This record gives sequence, structure tokens and C-alpha cells, in this order.
Amino acid sequence: AASPTRSYAITLLPGDGIGPEVISVAKNVLLLAGAIEGIEFNFHEMPVGGAALDLTGVPLPGETLSAAQQSDAVLLGAIGGYKWDNNEKHLKPETGLLQLREGLKVFANLRPATVLPQLVDASTLKKEVAEGVDLMVVRELTGGIYFGKPRGFSTNQNGEEIGLNTEVYSISEIDRIARVAFETARKRRGKLCSVDKANVLEASMLWRKRVMAIALEYPDVELTHMYVDNAAMQLVRNPKQFDTIVTNNIFGDILSDEASMITGSIGMLPSASLGEKAWTGPGLFEPIHGSAPDIAGQDKANPLATVLSAAMLLKYGLGEADAAERIEAAVLHTLDRGFRTGDIYSDGNKLVGCKEMGEEVLKAVDLNV
Ligand code: ATP
Ligand code: MG
Repeated sequence: AASPTRSYAITLLPGDGIGPEVISVAKNVLLLAGAIEGIEFNFHEMPVGGAALDLTGVPLPGETLSAAQQSDAVLLGAIGGYKWDNNEKHLKPETGLLQLREGLKVFANLRPATVLPQLVDASTLKKEVAEGVDLMVVRELTGGIYFGKPRGFSTNQNGEEIGLNTEVYSISEIDRIARVAFETARKRRGKLCSVDKANVLEASMLWRKRVMAIALEYPDVELTHMYVDNAAMQLVRNPKQFDTIVTNNIFGDILSDEASMITGSIGMLPSASLGEKAWTGPGLFEPIHGSAPDIAGQDKANPLATVLSAAMLLKYGLGEADAAERIEAAVLHTLDRGFRTGDIYSDGNKLVGCKEMGEEVLKAVDLNV
């Protein structure tokens, strides 16, 4: 094991709905894996979302944001719920999440889509297509058509109303997301596919040119290019061909949802959002699922997406790959032993709640499997 002196400040943002239940499990898993690997964590738990609204009147209190900014990494549960859906007096809880992403300047969103052998039947694809899928979508998060100007409503020459948005990427924006993608591919199987529409769009032509330029810094990573329409098709035809995919904001929005549906297990999928200091934090790590108000407080939530987000926090946020792999192995071992929450349950397995699933993962972390 590595030297026993590493210490990190982690901001925990449990949030709403099932957030507190799944964060509690992930915190215990981090503590145990850290203790075994010689890592000390200082956790600061802060309110965000609806919980913060009730407490302070705003969804992202200044103290929460500054704690997050000053920490080494941020682990978020989930935000929102019925209770605040028709909120006229205040900001919506979800505003807190947007402000948090803005405040941490996270420009790279990483979403793995892995079909675990134990859960291959959950996939929306045929078994032989789904088996062994293990890919990562790296989505640019703060540029492109979602933010480009000019935008808005106006009138064209014929006096007809138009809606207008603009796809804009600068060289520096492309270069930094490309570097995150190459670094990510390097930590995986060393293959990167850049997805664009360079046959039609100038922003994509520049994207392709810069990705090729950055590739010179990463001779060990194999780079390919694909048009987005083809990529959308290839993802369902033969997703195994992909290792790491890098793409712009809008294509990434669509392709990462498509990729997550391949796995069919929303309770299993983690994510990472990395900022300027991408490799030292504070990155933002969270499950891709929402607050699941329909099952909140009933000990039914699957905590594994959050546990796997904690593993991403270790690997991509802190550079602690050994501890991350220990947690991933523990999750696989727990599934191997047949433990399932309701969302991934099938005949012949053992149905457990959120807490019990957490206890089983802890046992597996301890076993060093
Ligand atoms: P968002 O908040 O992103 O808009 P949403 O409201 O569309 O999300 P979720 O809150 O993710 O959706 O819930 C969708 C469905 O998936 C619900 O039925 C919920 O119970 C279920 N679900 C989501 N996360 C989990 C989990 N971790 N374990 C079990 N079931 C889950
Ligand atoms: Mg929701």
C-alpha cells in the first residue's frame, strides 16, 4: 500500500429524496477503503437543493459553495422533489445544481456506461451485443450551442418569428476538453473516439483539427473520429467498439443518455464533472439518477451509483486509483454474491434495502477481493 499520509477534504452534499440515504452508504465505503489504503478523509456535510431551501431560503447557500470550492472533491446525492415542484416564492432546488457546476467551473462531464456481467439482462440490447460493454462518454459541459451567442427570439427578413442559437467553440475550450479526454482514455484502454459533425459544421471542423493537434501530446492513445449520426447508430449496433468518446455539449447530452440506456440500470450509473484543476479537484461526483421521491425514506434506493461515483472521485478527482479499484471490485463481488436492490432485482437473487446493500459492500471492501 502507498504511504499513510494522504489526507483529503471532501464536501458531502446529500441533498434531497434518496440523496441522504445513498450518500451515507458512500461515505462509509470511502472511510473504510481509505483506512485500508492509508487515506484520511475529512468530510464536511453541507445542505444543497430543497434541503437548503427549507433551511436558508436558497438552493445553494454561499457557505455550501465556498466549502465545495475549498475542498479536494465534492460528492453529491440528488436534488429536487415534489415538495418544491410548484415553488413560486423561491428558486427551484435544481437551480442549486446549476449554480454549483458554475461555481466549480466544471467543464468536463464523464459518464461511464458499463454493462456488468451480473446485470447483462437489464440491458435494452440483445445479450450478445450488450455483453462486455465498457465505455466512457466525455462531454464538454460549459460551451457550444447551450451557451453560444447570439441567441434568443427575433424576426427574419420576411417578418417571421425565429428562434436562434449559436454553436461556438474556441481553441482553448476544445484543447482543455480534449486533454481531459486523452487523460481519461489513458486511465482506461487507451482508445479515444472524437465525435463531431465536421462534414457540415465549422465549429466541428475546428474541433477535429484541435483534437488532432492535442493527440500529438498523447502518442500512446489511439484516436479515431466519427460523425455524430454514425456514432448514435454504432452505439446501439456495436457499443463494444468504444472505449472513451469525447464530444461537444449537445452531442454529449444525447449520446450519454443513449449510452446509459444500453446498461438499463439507472441505479448503477455514476458520473464525474471535472473543472479547471481537473486532476487535483474539486471535481463534482454524483449518480446520474435523480432524487427518486417515490422511494425516498423507505430504504429501497440502490446506493451503488453513488458508491461508484465515490470510486470515480478517488480515481479522477484525487488520483487514488488503488482505492477506487478496491471499491469497484467490492461492488462486483457484492453483485456476484447475489445481493440486489429492487431496481436491479431478478429471480433467484437476494432482495436487500439500501442499508443492507451498503453493509455488504463494506464487507467486500474489507475482504480485499
Ligand atoms: P431528475 O431528478 O434527473 O429529473 P427523474 O425525476 O427523471 O430525475 P429519478 O429521480 O432518477 O428520475 O427517478 C426515476 C425512476 O428511477 C424512479 O421511479 C425512481 O424510483 C427510480 N430510481 C432512480 N434512482 C434510483 C436508485 N438509486 N435506486 C432505485 N431506484 C431508483
Ligand atoms: Mg426528479
